[in-house]
Amino acid sequence: MKLDTGALRYLTTEDWRVLQAVEQGSKNHDLVPTPLIQQIAGLRGGSGVHRNISNLAKVGLIAKVKNAKYDGYRLTYGGLDYLALNTHRKSSHIYSLGNQIGVGKESDIYITASPSNRPLVLKLHRLGRISFRTVKANRDYLRNRQTGSWMYLSRLAAQKEHAFMKVLYREGFPVPEPVAWNRHTVVMEFIDSFPLRQIDSVPDPGKLYAELMEIIVRLAQRGLIHGDFNEFNILVKEIPDAKAEGGVRLEPIVIDFPQTVSTNHVNAEMYFDRDAACVKRYFERRFKFTVEEPGPFFKDAIKGADPERRLDVEVEASGFSRKMAKELERFVEVVPGGGEGEGEVEVVDEDGQGVDDAHEGEVEDDDEEVDEDEQDPQANDPEMIERLESLNV
Ligand code: ADP
Ligand code: MG
Repeated sequence: MKLDTGALRYLTTEDWRVLQAVEQGSKNHDLVPTPLIQQIAGLRGGSGVHRNISNLAKVGLIAKVKNAKYDGYRLTYGGLDYLALNTHRKSSHIYSLGNQIGVGKESDIYITASPSNRPLVLKLHRLGRISFRTVKANRDYLRNRQTGSWMYLSRLAAQKEHAFMKVLYREGFPVPEPVAWNRHTVVMEFIDSFPLRQIDSVPDPGKLYAELMEIIVRLAQRGLIHGDFNEFNILVKEIPDAKAEGGVRLEPIVIDFPQTVSTNHVNAEMYFDRDAACVKRYFERRFKFTVEEPGPFFKDAIKGADPERRLDVEVEASGFSRKMAKELERFVEVVPGGGEGEGEVEVVDEDGQGVDDAHEGEVEDDDEEVDEDEQDPQANDPEMIERLESLNV
């Protein structure tokens, strides 16, 4: 889904307040009725709120939904993107937005820059984009949270990813530096690199292979298993080095952590073996590099673990709780080998079955005309908008 920032220019202060009100109302209403939007936004009645609602619906930030009892609105991914982007902008994490560089099944990746022009990556989690099908089958679980479920799960994915990256980066693991998270988004260091998948040959495959296995083992020693350690999630930096074979040194950087699990997970050994096997298989296939000896083995890896330095325990204590991890895991399961060999994130219901469409009711565009004179030129930072627009978004 394209992050279309074109409408940023036209949003007034009241529009933003109404957008936030719809977001807030979505937390416990499947459809947020207009009087509630009005109440949360703290705006006076009359045509004002209706005009704001119409503005937002027209540019697709909220959508009108009809059900048997009443008409209401729900936030769209576009609306959530705007809210997150605006928060990152206000806290000076993002200054400008550049090209989209990745479209995952469950995320969109954009280049952005900080106020000091440091290149950064904005990852927007889009859980349920492909198969936002869980909701019907999980009525009990998601009662009162149906509209918000995809937002909630995407937010959990972002929070989890940021939490893990933070401790991993601090502990010297080769991961991008995490900068911030908000709602369903993570801002992180941009790694000037190619995914391993795009690299045809490496001067010394044995060295890179050993480094990757060492990362898997070192993670397990700190209580973690990546869970989707494949050639798309390993970025390779090429660093000029006269001493290295071929004149370049390759440095792997690992990304993509929403499916990371603790070594205490019931299926930990399976996940560990799968990560290791994935690297092994890829090196055989792509670089014709074969290692005869079996392993590394989970049991050996965790022997070296220091119970005092477990990062899984630290993350749990820091806010991404076990309960949250379970909620996320209940819906997200990584099925390796899907697509073009990439681990595929599949949203499943409790029985592991994909289920059909989530939203009931019909979604309508509200295309009432808006009087342009009513717009508040002070509502947004026009320069920021210029930059966003000029940067091809
Ligand atoms: P997904 O969950 O959709 O697989 P990823 O985090 O793996 O998302 O990112 C998808 C792609 O975007 C990666 O394969 C990589 O090409 C690019 N990418 C993601 N994060 C970064 C980053 N920090 N620096 C450079 N490229 C990145
Ligand atoms: Mg990935």
